[in-house]
Order: sequence, then C-alpha cells, then structure tokens
Amino acid sequence: MKSFDIKRVILLRIDRGEEVISSIVNACEREGIKAALINGIGLLSRAKLAVFVPEKQAYDSFEVDKPMELASLMGNVSIKDGRPFVHLHVVLGDKEGSVAGHLMEGYIGGTGEIAILELKGELRRDLEKDGLTLLNI
Ligand code: ZN
Repeated sequence: MKSFDIKRVILLRIDRGEEVISSIVNACEREGIKAALINGIGLLSRAKLAVFVPEKQAYDSFEVDKPMELASLMGNVSIKDGRPFVHLHVVLGDKEGSVAGHLMEGYIGGTGEIAILELKGELRRDLEKDGLTLLNI
C-alpha cells in the first residue's frame, strides 16, 4: 500500500481511428506523467480484450469487431522499464449485451473522453510474480 496526492486532472479526447492505449501512453510521455488513475467513456469500433489465466500464467485474448459503447474504461499509469505503462480494463456494450476484460488494443469508433488523474510522485511496476508484473506499492 502507498498513498499519493492528486497533482492535476488532464482531459484527453481521442478521435476516431486512434488507438486508446498508445494515445494515453503518448499523452503521459508528453506531459511527464509517472503515476495516474484513468477513467473514460466513448465508442470503440474494434478491440482486443483478454482474461488472465493464473494456471497458464498468460492471457487468453479475444477480439471484438463491431461498434460498441465504451461504457467504462478504468485503470492506472505506472512506470515500467523506464516508460509509462497503461493498465486498462473496459466494459463494452451494445444492444446484444456486454463484454469486459483487460484491454490489449482498442480503436475509437466515435470519440474517446478520457480523464487522467495525475498523482504526485512515481508509481513503479517492477515486481515479477506468477507471470504478472505487479505495482511496487
Ligand atoms: Zn488487467
């Protein structure tokens, strides 16, 4: 456990066709962000999600290839191997139902409205355990 103070809140708009994770990483590099909480909403046109399987110590991934509301995007930004690392989970939905998972890749289909709550200090992700790289807190 570790406590942080909030430094500032940055609002980021991600436009149609742009990839969510790389857009957030780029914004963090530009702004020098080393610790943050993320939340967001929008519409994705396609995505690759995953579920971590502890027995395999690996992710099982699956693809979504249709427009779905990005009903919830949440996660955090830490520093891994000297660069901002974004860990995000999503809930996507349409009239047929919803899917959720660890976001591997997601392309904006309409707009993405992302809040980056920058924290003071640095959050490091460098503890290796059971196939995962954990937050060092
Ligand atoms: Zn995850």
